[in-house]
Order: sequence, then C-alpha cells, then structure tokens
Amino acid sequence: MDNLARVHFPSSLREAADLLVARPGARPLAGGTDLLVRHRNGQLPDVTDFVDLSGLDLQKITAEDGRVVIGSGCTMTAVATHPLIRERFPALVQGALQVGAFQIRNAATLGGNVGNASPAGDTIPCLISLEAEVRLFGPAGRRAVPLADFFTGPGRTVLQPGELIEAFALPDRRTAGAFLKLGERRAHAISKVSLALSCWEIAGGRREVRLALGAVAPTVIRCRKAEELLSAAPWPPSAELADKARRLVTEAARPIDDLRSAKEYRRQMTGVLFAKALEQVIGRGASAR
Ligand SMILES: Cc1cc2nc3c(=O)[nH]c(=O)nc-3n(C[C@H](O)[C@H](O)[C@H](O)COP(=O)(O)OP(=O)(O)OC[C@H]3O[C@@H](n4cnc5c(N)ncnc54)[C@H](O)[C@@H]3O)c2cc1C
Repeated sequence: MDNLARVHFPSSLREAADLLVARPGARPLAGGTDLLVRHRNGQLPDVTDFVDLSGLDLQKITAEDGRVVIGSGCTMTAVATHPLIRERFPALVQGALQVGAFQIRNAATLGGNVGNASPAGDTIPCLISLEAEVRLFGPAGRRAVPLADFFTGPGRTVLQPGELIEAFALPDRRTAGAFLKLGERRAHAISKVSLALSCWEIAGGRREVRLALGAVAPTVIRCRKAEELLSAAPWPPSAELADKARRLVTEAARPIDDLRSAKEYRRQMTGVLFAKALEQVIGRGASAR
C-alpha cells in the first residue's frame, strides 16, 4: 500500500508544468516502461504523483523551417515506421528498433528514453549523432538546448523544476547512418556499449561525420577527434584512415567495470562497433577493417 501514487491527466503543457511545480513529488509519466517498473519495485520512495502526458498532443512528427520535429510522446514504433524518419535518419530508425521488444516499443517514448537520462539509452547516441536539439516547456516558457548538452550525469539533466521535454528538432537533411549495440542477448537487453554514426554530404566529395558512444561514460559522449578526422578526408575513408579513426573512438571511451561488463572489454568493443558501423554505412567491407 505504501507505493501508491496519484495520477493526474492535464490537458495542456502549462497545466502539466504547474502540477509539477506544485507537487515536488510529482514526475512526468509517458509510456511508463521505466517509471512504473521502478515505482512498482519500490525504487522511487519520494514519488507521490504522476503527471500523465498522453493527452498533450506530443505524438506528432512534422517538417518545419528546415527541421524535422519529433514530439516527445512519439513511441519507438511511431519513430521507426514514419516515412520522413525512415528517409532521412537511418541511425534513429535502427536505434528505436533496438529498444526492448515490440511490446515495449509500442509504449516507450522518445521523451521517456531521453528523460530517463541513462548513458545506455539507445536513442540518445542516435539523436546526438543527428545534431538534435531538445525543446523544453516550463514555468518560464520555452527554450531549446542541444541534446549533447542536456545531460549532466547518469539520471541527471539540465531540466528545471516543472520543465518538460516537448519535442526534438533535427536538421532536415538526408543522412546515412547506423546504430549498433552490444547487449547480453541479441534483443531485449540493456546496452553494454552502443555506437551511432551519422553522416551527410558536404562540398568537395566529403561527408560531415558524427559519432556518439553510449554506456562508456557517465553520459553519452561524442568522439570529436574521430569525427574531425573522417570529415576532413574524401569519402569513403581509406582503410588506413578508418583504422586511425577506430583507435580514436576507442580512446574516447571512458567505461567502468559493472555487473554488465568489464571496462577493458567495453573499450575494445567500441572499436569493433565503429568498424562495423562504418562498414554498414560505406556499404563495403575493405576500408572499414
Ligand atoms: C523490458 C524492458 C526492456 C527495455 N529495453 C530497453 C532497451 O533495449 N533500450 C533502452 O534504451 N531502454 C530500454 N528500456 C527502458 C525504457 O523502455 C526506455 O527508456 C523508454 O524509452 C522509456 O520511455 P517511457 O515513455 O516508457 O518513459 P517513462 O517510463 O514514462 O519515463 C521515463 C523517465 O523520463 C521522464 N519523462 C518521460 N517523458 C518526459 C517528458 N516529456 N519530459 C520530461 N521527462 C519525461 C519520466 O519522468 C521518467 O523519469 C527497457 C525497459 C523494459 C521494461
């Protein structure tokens, strides 16, 4: 009986933000696949109220002003099957499709995956590799933050009291990309290491490359040195360059030992995932090995 909580059903973002401010023990509730599981397990003793976001019109995906805007309430299934996302952002499609099993994907939202702020959240490296910004709504109004600057530690973000994730805005361009994760099993497993690679064409036969690593640091991290190396050279990279980039990716990882994996194994696997992702994106094996 002691882990009962009240559920509120606001009909506007303003009402939701007011509820969160008025009740310090309240938490936003999206798909509930993280929050309700932890609550039921008694891991959230301070939570007194849930603010259900399902009535707030946060489930849209639109193209506007050079951006693709994805509502925070879009489920993994909605993201992975949307024609605009499928055409522009293959890394995000792959990331959304690797969250849990299909029952989870039908409930789990993009906002919840990011709001959870786990360094192992599968869509986070994908969104960072696509230069997503997160649009927030709160008592002081709206603001936007680059997703790469949103996390301050495991489970911690820059969200202020009463603030909610409204949407994610991604530059509207065709990208090539891949997301790969290593888990205990092929499916339905939390990542021990994950990697997203996205790239898009720029002048001079080159591609702007973005690389983000999950589960190898307190927050998802970008591999800026490897990005710079790959973006400066003609595309596709030579085998020698790809190998240099692989070493830079491995050096960027700062993993820890935990019950899911040993840190040295994690570090080595970042390089393996990078080589496989590059191979997938280039569409041939030789230069990625
Ligand atoms: C069996 C199982 C398998 C799983 N497998 C994976 C996996 O493979 N990969 C993976 O990444 N995750 C996995 N998860 C974790 C979970 O499903 C995802 O993190 C999911 O995306 C959470 O979304 P949700 O909508 O259910 O969030 P919720 O559980 O509703 O919320 C999660 C957190 O985000 C906050 N939040 C939600 N929406 C907002 C918002 N709009 N603004 C601000 N804060 C918000 C909540 O307050 C809460 O703190 C798994 C979970 C289960 C139970």
